[in-house]
Amino acid sequence: MIPLDEAQAFVGSLVEPLEVASFRLDEASGLVLAEDVVAADAVPPFDNTAMDGFAVLADDTAPGARLRIVGTVAAGSVFDGVVGSGEAVRIMTGAPIPRGADAVVMVEDTHVDGDVVIIDRPVERGRHVRPAGDDIRPGDVVLRSGTALGPAAVGLLATVGRSDVPAYRRPVVGVLSTGDELVADGSPLRPGQIRDSNRVAVAAASRAAGAEVVDLGLVPDDEAAIEAVLRDGAAQCDLVLSSGGVSMGDFDWVRVVGDRIGEMRWMQVAIRPAKPLAAGRIDGTAMIGLPGNPVSSLVSFELFARPAIRRLAGHSVLERPRLRAETLEDLPGAPPSMTLFSRVRLTVADDGTCTARSAGGQGSHQIASMALADGLAVLDERGARRGESIVVIPLD
Ligand code: AMP
Ligand code: MG
Repeated sequence: MIPLDEAQAFVGSLVEPLEVASFRLDEASGLVLAEDVVAADAVPPFDNTAMDGFAVLADDTAPGARLRIVGTVAAGSVFDGVVGSGEAVRIMTGAPIPRGADAVVMVEDTHVDGDVVIIDRPVERGRHVRPAGDDIRPGDVVLRSGTALGPAAVGLLATVGRSDVPAYRRPVVGVLSTGDELVADGSPLRPGQIRDSNRVAVAAASRAAGAEVVDLGLVPDDEAAIEAVLRDGAAQCDLVLSSGGVSMGDFDWVRVVGDRIGEMRWMQVAIRPAKPLAAGRIDGTAMIGLPGNPVSSLVSFELFARPAIRRLAGHSVLERPRLRAETLEDLPGAPPSMTLFSRVRLTVADDGTCTARSAGGQGSHQIASMALADGLAVLDERGARRGESIVVIPLD
């Protein structure tokens, strides 16, 4: 058996960040930025008002002062004149501060009498004025290369006038399942058959990790069929994920084919579930052979495939941040010298404290508890006693 971190390092060594291309902002969310972005112009571009109200000279705003309204300026237009002493311009949020004015009295602090505004509450100079450049100055690096672009980042890119950005291409991940016992079309099960769940689950996990998925289908336990699909997947994908057929059974053809046509490493990793793992290359393309048991395939995905997808996508943080939780029940430990990833349900209280309890049966075939789980507790041989603080990998 090999340690988890060694297996993870090996899988990590199979992939490199993909090439960089230009993406429109509406396609860029979720991608990783591939260059520093520098603002050319100030944001906001001009002094403007944060409030609806009256642009005035602060010195004119003694309580009860009466100022003559000499115009109106809305967002998107400019007041042509200059505000003099004793004058006010009606102004709407986002509109440029008229020349001469140096503060805004919000409308709630005024009342109007014909073409005169009466000031109920004085303001100091600069009040409610958002100065040009107080968010971004020309020359500021607003986003660093390597940033994972989220909604605010694409909004920021639009703010600084970008309509496209260079980013790492989205990884294309091919997903196949293998097994003569598997049924994928919803038809009634004949004796000995079960339904193919891994392909749809691993595809969904791949998409959640940022990949574009190619469904390579359900492949029978047939050497020629498996070879054809693996080669096809290797030709069109950046990463191929198979499930099943990587153990020591007589019909584990993924193993046989992988050895014959690829450079694969077959590992027994010191973890439960998901001990068997295959990883390497087929025709030069990275391939991970996930174990067949439904929970094993998803845990293996989480520990090996998700980081690989994120590396292809240009991320530098490959693993999820772990968190601590107090377990509300005793959790059994791992087999000797192994790490157990135990399915747990998490509750986060209003004060932010996190508690965990078992999600149910922990067999590697028991997908029901995997679907209920929103975390994997990382446990050693000792397990954990009720009330203890444990480390948890939160899932999507
Ligand atoms: P294998 O690794 O092919 O020996 O499969 C191990 C176990 O996982 C067996 O019980 C298989 O029936 C089951 N299994 C394999 N592939 C799938 C799949 N795609 N969906 C559901 N169960 C599977
Ligand atoms: Mg099988």
